Amino acid sequence: MPLSEAERLALLSAIVDSSDDAIISKNLDAGIITSWNKSAERMFGYTAEEAIGQPITILLPPDRLPEEAEILSRLRRGERIDHIETIRMRKDGGLIDVSLTISPVRDEAGNIIGASKIAREITELRRVDRAHRLLSAIVESSDDAIISKSLDGGIITSWNKSAERLFGYTAEEAIGQPITILIPADRTDEEPEIVSRLRRGDRVDHIETVRMRKDGSLVDLSLTISPIRDAAGNIVGASKVARDITESKRLIAELQRANEVLEQFVYSASHDLQEPLRTVKIYGEVLLGEYGEQLGSKGAEILGFLHSGATHMENLLRDLLAYVRVTKFEKPSEDSDARQAFEDALQSLSSSISESNASVTAGPLPSVRVDLAHLHQLFQNLIGNAIKYRDPQRPPVVCVSAERQKGQWRFSVRDNGIGIEPQYTSTIFGLFKRLHDNEKYSGSGLGLSICQRIVEQYGGRIWVESKPSEGSVFSFTIPD
Ligand code: ADP
Repeated sequence: MPLSEAERLALLSAIVDSSDDAIISKNLDAGIITSWNKSAERMFGYTAEEAIGQPITILLPPDRLPEEAEILSRLRRGERIDHIETIRMRKDGGLIDVSLTISPVRDEAGNIIGASKIAREITELRRVDRAHRLLSAIVESSDDAIISKSLDGGIITSWNKSAERLFGYTAEEAIGQPITILIPADRTDEEPEIVSRLRRGDRVDHIETVRMRKDGSLVDLSLTISPIRDAAGNIVGASKVARDITESKRLIAELQRANEVLEQFVYSASHDLQEPLRTVKIYGEVLLGEYGEQLGSKGAEILGFLHSGATHMENLLRDLLAYVRVTKFEKPSEDSDARQAFEDALQSLSSSISESNASVTAGPLPSVRVDLAHLHQLFQNLIGNAIKYRDPQRPPVVCVSAERQKGQWRFSVRDNGIGIEPQYTSTIFGLFKRLHDNEKYSGSGLGLSICQRIVEQYGGRIWVESKPSEGSVFSFTIPD
């Protein structure tokens, strides 16, 4: 049975009210709002009572007012306005992005008597669109190659300008190809490993590897690869940021070579200089022994200066050699007993220990994966300093201890010596850095540099905490 007019109207109005779009009608003369559905209320904040009877311009931000005249004149010509994107104002003054479709409403005689307006809010769409554009601009202008690929089949799905520069393929050539076009034959096993890590949701951070350009040449890269998830959180692809590290690798290699040459030079120089120095010392002693009486006390004093100068230089050269010897080395395959290294150091320091009446003790010491000679050197330098920089008012008391920390051992050498002013606690680890002249405390200024170099070779660090005139604690760590 056909619907009655009243039923038809009720149905229409139910449809209008249940629509997600704001549906508004207005008359054409003054643009007065004549109907207003539930979604219009939600979208613009006015109730139907508040809106009906008001001019439609209450919805227009001031800078958009001219739009209304233009819309009205098009409607009067009988035109429909389809999906124009514009901005409207809510009751609270907030602005919203909307897409409008406006159609003329005619009476039975075909005269245009008003307009119906369907407004859809697109603020979120716009925001996403803007964010998308911003992201694309960032990706395009990045100096790094940024590529995305699907996880199944590893098909390239996006390719920025830098990827084009780095690999030589244009976006058109690369997109749709498998990512393996970039992988040299001897690296093909890397991809499955990367994919399985991505599938677990892991990110692959800064791995250094080699990839192949379109022309077949190879390029050293640092790669960071992250999983891409869909809205449901499923991993559907991967984004890959590739940085060309050819130049930095070349510079590092050059620096290493220059360093090696320099170390070799220092090594030979300090080694070769020892010989003539020994001659100076020996002939000085001969001179003193055979001609001492003729030289008189003044001459003997001068020979004494000569002798101590040569001895100082000998010590400097010895320490310099020790420093240069601590170059890159393989980690030892076995542990060394730190207690043994401590005992060896006591042996080497026995005369200064007895001269100074020092008490040197150690708590339980572990075995660690460090060369025994290196451990010996660390203890010898640190305990030697603890005795050398003692307070003249009290005999030195030195305690060595080791403490287990997360993933490492921390060793400490505590003394009750003169201490160090806070502003010098890092400088003293520098080469030839000393806080005293040779008259007061003899030394080369290399002992702590040697310790630092050893500890850093094992991935640890060394530092000091100290209170002037109370004492110092030198600590170093050895990671597992
Ligand atoms: P050197 O002892 O040959 O001068 P080091 O590199 O071993 O060289 O030490 C650098 C400087 O750090 C020393 O000259 C001294 O001033 C200071 N220093 C080192 N150990 C101690 C310590 N235990 N107490 C006070 N000062 C110290």
